[in-house]
Amino acid sequence: MITRQKTKVVHIGGVPVGGGNPLVIQSMTNTDTRNIPATIAQIKALEAAGCEIVRVAVPDIEAAEAIQRIKKEISIPLVADIHFDYQLALLAVKYGADKLRINPGNIGSENHVRQVAEAANANDLPIRVGVNGGSLEKDILAKYNGVTPEGLAESALQNVSLLEKHNFKNIVVSVKASNITLMLEAHKILTKHLSYPLHIGLTEAGTPYKGSIRSATGLGALLSLGIGDTLRVSLAGDPVQEILVAKDILSAMGLRHFGVTVIACPTCGRTDLDVAEIALQVEMKLAHITTPLTVAVMGCAVNGPGEAREADIGIAGGKNGAVLFRKGKVIRHIATNEIIDTILDEVHSIQ
Ligand code: SF4
Repeated sequence: MITRQKTKVVHIGGVPVGGGNPLVIQSMTNTDTRNIPATIAQIKALEAAGCEIVRVAVPDIEAAEAIQRIKKEISIPLVADIHFDYQLALLAVKYGADKLRINPGNIGSENHVRQVAEAANANDLPIRVGVNGGSLEKDILAKYNGVTPEGLAESALQNVSLLEKHNFKNIVVSVKASNITLMLEAHKILTKHLSYPLHIGLTEAGTPYKGSIRSATGLGALLSLGIGDTLRVSLAGDPVQEILVAKDILSAMGLRHFGVTVIACPTCGRTDLDVAEIALQVEMKLAHITTPLTVAVMGCAVNGPGEAREADIGIAGGKNGAVLFRKGKVIRHIATNEIIDTILDEVHSIQ
């Protein structure tokens, strides 16, 4: 059982983040934000996959203006990602963004930070202070002789204090790096000093396969320490994949449950069934179900029944078929050619 670290609650649009609320899944569009139809289409695809907060890049005035039209068409909160230009942050607030992602240290003078903090405060808008290993301040790089956990944490704390100075406390913090150990150590330092909710993720996680493994390893390590209130898996390519991977990471950690989880044994010399094919078919055909359920597909009668009993619906291979379990009880023997349909029927009957 993971004990989540205590953080304050911040509301992003209507979504509560922190304070023990369920971990929130985020992603970021990779369309040109100024291409409004393409951006809306991608956000809708992300919503359909289960994305709960979406971030868009706001590199110029046209992109800031696009927020207004995009917001009218989508249902999830929108975060405006802004670098260097405080005026874009002010415009993003004006056009209805639900949160800003900035680094107070790189948007100009103290007067600029104050203006952004005041606008966000007036609109009850949170700001995420996002520190990246790749863009650490020069003085911190010099002080720590490169990118270090201490430097990442110090940068985050400095950026937070720039907002707090203007009585702004509606803050979410993120510290991202592509090196997992570095990121982990930075968070350990940071959580000793901050109680703001933390957005977690790796930068440049990579291609879908390797990036998923890196994200699962890095985010899993943080989550196991109870760190993280919202997360993003960063993968090169279609961001919808990020949502699916994020859901699987949270399910695997037991922190959230999304629809049917299919457990399958790895198969061995005792296997009586085509476990891989059955598990794959069942997983695909039950993908539309949102009720959290577990289905176990186990290959033999030696080690299979134990796991099959633990699941909501389970099968354990045997002679000419399998034994069916429902909620821990043996129901009946089923023939090999009936296995997939029987599992589907059973799941539909209990969901
Ligand atoms: Fe082998 Fe049975 Fe274990 Fe599957 S459940 S790996 S078939 S021993």
